[in-house]
Amino acid sequence: MSRSILTLILATAVMAVAFTDLAPPLAPLATFALALLALGYVAACRWFPLRRCPACKGSGHITGGLLGGIRYCGLCRGEGIQLRRGVVLWRRLRRGRGRR
Ligand SMILES: [Zn+2]
Repeated sequence: MSRSILTLILATAVMAVAFTDLAPPLAPLATFALALLALGYVAACRWFPLRRCPACKGSGHITGGLLGGIRYCGLCRGEGIQLRRGVVLWRRLRRGRGRR
């Protein structure tokens, strides 16, 4: 998980540099990459609306504690899967406009 966060930070930094005057030739490329990423995420939300729960990594339970106990994951209620944030946002927006 921390590796993906690092990648995200690095990608954000590269994008930020690309849109400044430091590296002008990178701007179209960064725009293209950003558009591609957005399109990929929308496609993922459309065809794969569920994702593995980040808290329990899809197992549905969390182990730990002094005596090695197991408990249900509170984030996914023990299911191990979660709706993507984009899907949740999309549904909320649609509900807001009065459609279902
Ligand atoms: Zn979970």
